[in-house]
Amino acid sequence: MATTTTTTTGLRDITKMERIGAHSHIHGLGLTDNLEARPSGQGMVGQAKARRAAGVILKLIEEGNYAGRAILMAGAPGSGKTAIAMGMAQSLGADVPFTMLAASEIFSLEMSKTEALTQAFRRSIGVRIKEESEIIEGEVVEIQIDRSTTGLGQKSGKLTLKTTEMETIYDLGAKMIEALNKEKVMAGDVITIDKASGRITKLGRSFTRARDYDAMGSDTKFVQCPEGELQKRKEVVHTVSLHEMDVINSRSQGFLALFSGDTGEIKSEVRDQINTKVSEWREEGKAEIVPGVLFIDEVHVLDIECFSFLNRALEDALAPVVIMASNRGITTIRGTNYKSPHGLPVDLLERLLIISTGPYSEPEIKQILGIRCDEEDVQMTEDAKDILTRIGMETSLRYAIHLITASSFVAKKRKASAIDVADIKKVYSLFLDEKRSVQMLKEYQNQYMY
Ligand code: ATP
Repeated sequence: MATTTTTTTGLRDITKMERIGAHSHIHGLGLTDNLEARPSGQGMVGQAKARRAAGVILKLIEEGNYAGRAILMAGAPGSGKTAIAMGMAQSLGADVPFTMLAASEIFSLEMSKTEALTQAFRRSIGVRIKEESEIIEGEVVEIQIDRSTTGLGQKSGKLTLKTTEMETIYDLGAKMIEALNKEKVMAGDVITIDKASGRITKLGRSFTRARDYDAMGSDTKFVQCPEGELQKRKEVVHTVSLHEMDVINSRSQGFLALFSGDTGEIKSEVRDQINTKVSEWREEGKAEIVPGVLFIDEVHVLDIECFSFLNRALEDALAPVVIMASNRGITTIRGTNYKSPHGLPVDLLERLLIISTGPYSEPEIKQILGIRCDEEDVQMTEDAKDILTRIGMETSLRYAIHLITASSFVAKKRKASAIDVADIKKVYSLFLDEKRSVQMLKEYQNQYMY
């Protein structure tokens, strides 16, 4: 039996949307079927080894036996760690949760660090719930004919039945077509279906103008139905995250908290209840767990308490794959006086697979800047691109990408259709990169407040 899939794991807050904006040109990892990295593909350029490694991890996640493992992406700022994580997110199945978290968010939310981490973990675990539904006898349904089909006279086509509870699309069986023809049922008619005989009775029209019908568009989900027989049952599959289930079932929060993002702390009894329910459903074959991915950026910002939480949480039966990123070398583990690689405690380091990202070549930087220009829909002369590439090499890729937007504004001001060298120079002098800013601080240190 074919299934329809619905998912509600798309809830992302504004800070996350902004972070994703910088990576809007990334549509995947740009790998071949053999997991080889194309020199450029799906918005990704260079970094072949890291992309290949990410592809291998992705395959393991898809096979479903990688939950509870942790990966560290290590590399200099702007070397594409987040971009690769985004590429992975784009390549995961539609109902596999992917949660992105900047480690500093843990400290800024109005809840304890471990509660924030627990929520992030549970956001990253999907529960695929299967439900059998029935079309209820005599229930009023609206019908719309898929726009790709030409009419009801033909032997096949798709039909959306909209009941009060669900929306389904059926392949039309011969018996159904006969009934629809007999009653001269048109898109927009409101009908009843007799469950036993498949008989259709027309009640009236739910919308009168063809325009209204057209505006509803057509769907692509459908359920196969044997020729000549009206399908009465279908399987609906929803995927929700454990966190969403927690919030909905937490009496003090309620469903609306999912939209405001203001979920507060969730009681452990609620989580226990959900875990018990989910394991019952799993035993009854009604649900399966979909371990997703939790990406923690700037992981060195976490402190020792968070790291020990992570170590424990990864042991849990319901753990996602955790991908961390750090641009630090040997640095102090927060909350201790010890130094260690990437600021991570040794026991956590030992369980990580590390993917490292290296510096970009000049042509790669130029190509990425070109892709970003296309993405931002701006024109830039070749000379300006060369200068910007040089700036990217000497400062950072991220700084150079920022200058595209700023210089495009300057070019527009002078009513030019393309960004030229002078525009780049102007914004380069207006906005400092990190190196020049530090230089400035050193020179004028005594004029700042202590
Ligand atoms: P940080 O350590 O500072 O968080 P990072 O390694 O996560 O840096 P990104 O944020 O991924 O770096 O990269 C900076 C910008 O360059 C982003 O806009 C990103 O999409 C883009 N970028 C980086 N690497 C690539 C790549 N290989 N292909 C295409 N775009 C890239």
